[in-house]
This record gives sequence, structure tokens and C-alpha cells, in this order.
Amino acid sequence: MKTFISISFIVFSWSLFAQNYSDYFTNERLRIDYYLTGNANKTILTISKLFKEPIWAGSKKNLVDTFYYGHYRIEVYDSAQKSLLFASGFCTLYQEWQQTPEAKKTFRTFSQFVNIPFPKNTIKIIFLERNNMGTFHELQSFYVNPSQPDIIKEKPNNIPIVEYIKNGDYNEKIDIAIIAEGYTAEQMDKFIADAKRLTEVLFTKEPFNQMKSYFNVTFVKSPSLEEGTDKPHLNIWKKTAAETRFYTFSMDRYLSVYDYQLLGNILNHVAYDQLVVLVNTKTYGGGGIYNFYSIAVSDNVFADYVFIHEFGHAFGALGDEYQDADDANENFYNLSVEPWEPNITTLVNFDKKWKKMLDKKTPIPTPIKGYENKIGVFEGAGYKTKGIYRPSVSCIMRDFQKLEFCPVCQVAIKQNILFHTGH
Ligand SMILES: [Zn+2]
Repeated sequence: MKTFISISFIVFSWSLFAQNYSDYFTNERLRIDYYLTGNANKTILTISKLFKEPIWAGSKKNLVDTFYYGHYRIEVYDSAQKSLLFASGFCTLYQEWQQTPEAKKTFRTFSQFVNIPFPKNTIKIIFLERNNMGTFHELQSFYVNPSQPDIIKEKPNNIPIVEYIKNGDYNEKIDIAIIAEGYTAEQMDKFIADAKRLTEVLFTKEPFNQMKSYFNVTFVKSPSLEEGTDKPHLNIWKKTAAETRFYTFSMDRYLSVYDYQLLGNILNHVAYDQLVVLVNTKTYGGGGIYNFYSIAVSDNVFADYVFIHEFGHAFGALGDEYQDADDANENFYNLSVEPWEPNITTLVNFDKKWKKMLDKKTPIPTPIKGYENKIGVFEGAGYKTKGIYRPSVSCIMRDFQKLEFCPVCQVAIKQNILFHTGH
């Protein structure tokens, strides 16, 4: 998915850069608000606003992402473009919309933001997008001079927060912010109880259980005027902090935030790497997008499963290991390209996936009978019954049978935890 030249360049820059965060960046962050506009075939990225916000919470050691997960990538260079200073991958709701029938007929705009460390000198920022062959190409580039007057430096908001788990410095931990959504001001005790319960469940699962000390968790008590969330298919509309809604892309259970910049505004005073929107509802549903957000529900019988599964997408860069009866996602993966998610494969380039974790005698693809508890290559994943394979018969990225990540997902999550905490 990337050329040899870019690999060698990045490894070189990263090692060169390792000791020098403070040469290039302050302790603050630059929040870049932008829009993605387009249709099924074409995307335009436009910058709208720049903000100087209080805290850069990411690693100060591992600044250049080496996983290459995600549909998009942001790269930050010095103004002469000699050194790569920062890089991070992510996905968006917009790219999922591009797969819908509507995107074949019309253009739409989705609001976005991304945080990077605040620069000391002029930087060049490049946004990259994958094409349908899995290769990155440039979408937009621009310069930011830290002293340019249009960088907004207003006081951050004062939404109360609770630091529920504080294991150490923001730069050396993964900071999860859980946002109250659809909880009225009078329901904040319920929000705290719900957020605690789900946080505790996440940290009973491996590898989170054994690596709990690598995390901080903050609860953000953002009040909503009304309780619950929108259900457009039932003509139910609620005025809430993050404006979540069910029935995304005509799927009842798909819960999302269309206006992503709202979340940036809610969190502009919070140190965070991962944001989770916790929706006060009994209805089943959720959503999780890599380095974008997790959306979970509070009171459904499957709330635990949803919270963990969506965090697997958002933090672990994990793909769905299930096949789907819906046609909506049928063409999500190009079977002639190896997907970037670490836990699914089209067998186009299985060497870079979990091949080394297989027993030598395990056949590829792997039949279920006789291999129920083994790591294998089982057909049926990525919303398709044929042509995409998963590592285990059961995993929380697939079904409700065991509320556990399979061994391949656990390894991927563990690598992410180590990288983002500077190891
Ligand atoms: Zn798995």
C-alpha cells in the first residue's frame, strides 16, 4: 500500500526526529477544522478554521505513525519539506457515505477536524487519501505559520470533567474521553455511573486488562436539553449535545455523529487521544471509526458488547469480522487489494497479516471443523461471505458468543497501545 521510497524516508525521519519534539512543537495542539465534499468518485478537502488548544495529549516520542492504518493520513513536514515531523492515519463517516447509492447521484459535505501538535515554526501539512487500489495520494496541502493571526485562541469551554482513571502524564498514556450524549443536566449522576460501568467492563478484556496502567480515562459532563437521541425513521428528534442519530445511511442500528466538529468544540479543553460518545438510550446500536470516534449506548442488553466492539474499530483499527445480510456494505472492500485492517485478509498479501501466528499444519483457508479453537484463516468477514477471511471462528469483532478479542486482534491492539505510549 505504500512505496519502498516512502517507507525508507519515514523510518529515517522518525529515528532522526525521536529526541526533538520540543525543537518543533509546543505543549499545545493545533486543531484543524475542515470539510470533505464530494460524491462516490471525487473528494475535495477545504480548510475552515484553525484553533490553538491547550494540551497535546499524544506521544512526544512516537510522532510518525508506522502502521499505515486508515483511509486517510495526515503528514506534517517542516516548511522546506525536508523532515517528516508527524503522521497519523484515520477514517471518516464521509468515506462510508461514499459507498452508499446516494453518493452515486449527489454531492454532500461532512464536517471534520484533526489535532496535531502545535508547531513552533511554519509547517507544511499534507492530507492523503487512499484510492481503490489501496495506495495513498495527496488530497490537499497547505502551510501553517504559528504566528498567523487567524489561528483562533479563544478561551476553551468550561464543561465539567471527571478524571476517572489517571495513571500518568497525557503524553505517556492513551487518554480516552467519554462524552455524555442525550443526558440532561439532571442526569449527570446516571452518566457517571454508566461511563464507569462500561469503562470497567472494557478493562476486564485482554489486552486492556493487563495494560490498564497505559490508560487515562476522563468523563465529560456535556449536558443535553433533551434525553435520548434522534431516530429519523420514527420521526423522533431530540436536542442533544453531540447531535447523534440512528438510521445512518438507512440502517436502523447505525448510530453516528454527522457534524464531527461539534465533538471538537465539546472537547476543546480536554486532553484526549480517543473520543467515545456515550448515548443515553435503551436502543441497540452504535458506531466506531478508526481514530475518529466510538459511539456506544448506555442501557441496551448488549451495551457492553457495543462499547468494546466499537472501541476495537476506533482505537485498534480493527475491521468487522462478520458477514452481513445488508447489501449496504457489500462493496466496502476491493477483493483484489489487501485491506489495511490487521484482522481481516483477502489473501492478496497475507504475509503481512497474522500468517506467522498460524500453526504450520493449519490449512489456508481453514475449515471450521477441527479448528474451532485455533487461529486460522476462516472465510466470511468484512461484510462478505466469500473472499475475505478472519483469524478466529469467534471474536468480539464478529459476534456475541464470547465477549473477547481473538488472539490476532489482541496483538494488534497491544502494538497500538505500545506505540502510542512511546514504547
Ligand atoms: Zn478478532
